[in-house]
Parts: sequence; structure tokens; C-alpha cells
Amino acid sequence: MPPAHRMDPAALEVARACKGFLDEAEGLRLHDLARQSAPLGPVVEIGSYCGKSSVYVGTGARAGGGRLICVDHHRGNEEQQPGEAYHDPDLFDAEAGAMDSLRHLRHTLRAADLEDTTLVLVARSADAAGVVTVPLGMVFIDGGHSFEAAQTDYQRWAGKVAPGGVLAIHDLFDDPNEGGQAPITIYRHAVASGLFEELPRTGTLGALRRR
Ligand code: MG
Repeated sequence: MPPAHRMDPAALEVARACKGFLDEAEGLRLHDLARQSAPLGPVVEIGSYCGKSSVYVGTGARAGGGRLICVDHHRGNEEQQPGEAYHDPDLFDAEAGAMDSLRHLRHTLRAADLEDTTLVLVARSADAAGVVTVPLGMVFIDGGHSFEAAQTDYQRWAGKVAPGGVLAIHDLFDDPNEGGQAPITIYRHAVASGLFEELPRTGTLGALRRR
């Protein structure tokens, strides 16, 4: 095994301080996958929220000589709306009467010195997929966790991964008692498609290499 690439310590501190739902081990794995995949094409992250994973992925893509494209409508997923389990009142824009995580993402990208190598696409995943038509080094799916949202992300993005590139999916739970089943359902679809080879998992992060 080659020695692991060391992520920039200042950026790591930014990631640690950022709001979000990603273990550090998962983040560092994403960083490595992005770095290895970046020479094949841009790296896309679906579901950036406040930018915690964007720091890991974006610094990895940059270390590999590439760029990150952050895709998020920034109005929160189904679990982040007022009254839901993952609602954060700090992110509620009273004037819009809606969630807004974009301001936090910009703050995070600036703090991690990623503004020059990261493209922020404020859009729904399916709409973004319609305009991002180049082969991608990596796609990281961590958007809406309803079956419909996860299925859309898989159907619209998985086929864009270049041969040798990586499809990563967050929040895999084999046991339905541990968590929602939409992410693992699309992960299983990807395996069953025969287009991808399974790589080791890190926590709830799955990774597949496009054959
Ligand atoms: Mg997640």
C-alpha cells in the first residue's frame, strides 16, 4: 500500500468545524477517492449542504489536478424542513420562507481556500445532470434520501462516471433498523448493473469503480 495522502491540516480543521453529517474517516476516504479520480474528469458532489464533504472532496480533487462541482438546490432535503428530524433553524431564511444552506457553503469554501477550484451549481440534481455532460472522474451521491430522490440521482448521474472513475454513495445501511434504505437500494442497483466493481466501504460510505 502506498502511504496515504495527507490532507491539508488547515482545510481539515474547516471540515471538522462545518455543520454536516459525515464522519472524519468517511471524509478522508472521499478525499483520497477524489484525488485518484480527478485526472479522469471533474468530480461531482450531489448534496453539498453547508460544505463539510465539499472540503474533503474539493481538496482531494484539487490535489489530483481537477475540480469539484457542488450540486445542491440549497433548500434542504426532505429531512431538513421545519419540523423534521434534521432541521437546523440557523439555516432558515425567513424572508424566503425556506431553507438556505448556500451562504454557509460559500463561507466554508472560502475558509478552505477552495473558491478558485470549485464550481457551485445551485440547481436540482436532475436539472444539473441535464447540463453537466462531460465524463466525470467521480460522482458522490449524498442528496435527498427519499427513494424517488435517490433513484433520480442514480439514474441521472451514474452513467456519467468515466471508465476507471468512482461512484460513491453515502448513508448505506444494510439493516433497515439502522437507517433509511434508499441509498443502499441504489448502491445495489449499481452492483447489479455489472458496470461497477465494489471497493471497500468506509463506515456508511460505499464506493464503486466503473469498469
Ligand atoms: Mg449523508
